[in-house]
Amino acid sequence: MSVTGQAQIAGVMGWPVAHSRSPLLHGYWLERYGIDGAYVPLPVRPEHLESALRALPLLGFAGVNLTTPHKEAALDVLDETDALARRLGAVNTVTVLADGRLAGTNTDGFGFMENLREGAPGWKAESGPTVVLGAGGAARAVVAALRDQGAEVRLVNRTEARAAALVEALGGAIEAYPWKARQAALAGARLLVNATTLGMEGGTPLDLDLGPLPKEAVVTDLVYAPLETALLKAAKARGNPTVDGLGMLLHQARPGFRAWFGQGGIDPEVTPELRAHVGGGGGG
Ligand code: NAP
Repeated sequence: MSVTGQAQIAGVMGWPVAHSRSPLLHGYWLERYGIDGAYVPLPVRPEHLESALRALPLLGFAGVNLTTPHKEAALDVLDETDALARRLGAVNTVTVLADGRLAGTNTDGFGFMENLREGAPGWKAESGPTVVLGAGGAARAVVAALRDQGAEVRLVNRTEARAAALVEALGGAIEAYPWKARQAALAGARLLVNATTLGMEGGTPLDLDLGPLPKEAVVTDLVYAPLETALLKAAKARGNPTVDGLGMLLHQARPGFRAWFGQGGIDPEVTPELRAHVGGGGGG
């Protein structure tokens, strides 16, 4: 599909941004649905975030995704943010409104839940506790989404103060466990989520013995490079159902695409072809 002078434009702002798979992903959907549009990488230094965001309506952009390190800082720049973005303290999707104002939301939790529903349709929040490893930005979105489903969460993080801050921010049935209790926390769980950076290609491995985890518990990893992490491999080997992290990346992109390019009512699909297209290569 070639781009005309009337193309809708969106992109991803990050620093660095070269590793982002979002241009590949949105580019695939633009082609697939025959939309006159473009989605471009926008390398924006942290000190230029405000100017870059303010330039979007002037340049005719429909919106942008935000990635590291801009997700938190954008909250202070945007004209409106929804309750979810404020609760998470992070924005990953910005839409330019008709009057030029900038609106922000966060779609990571949506992406996580859609991926889990698709990959483990039998999982129910009420069937038992969920163990979440990690208390960074991604864990916060995941825990909020799980709490919204009514799940009881055991939150395990290396830095206990960070876990405590997450519990305080989100409230409800979340119990913090120290990192050294991560194995014990698995007893009786029905879902295990790795939301740390451990297990990424070339990085530190996740050191976790799955022994106490019931065999019927679903195991999912937010890390998607490699697609089958050592955690997912170990879980599969002992018979646990597993869900990889690529689907979260793909599903979290849907609301942005709908807002910027979906004027004809298109809700872009996550298909095996898209997974194969985006699945190889660098980071998120
Ligand atoms: P982040 O804010 O930097 O948080 C990193 C987390 O990993 C923290 O909980 C940190 O613990 C923990 N951690 C790092 N090194 C550790 C170690 N050696 N031992 C124990 N814990 C360690 O990162 P994030 O943005 O939340 O991202 C987390 C992961 O999710 C990344 O791999 C990212 O690529 C992935 N992710 C995937 C998707 C997707 O669509 N699939 C979306 C978002 C993120 P401390 O608090 O103790 O430092």
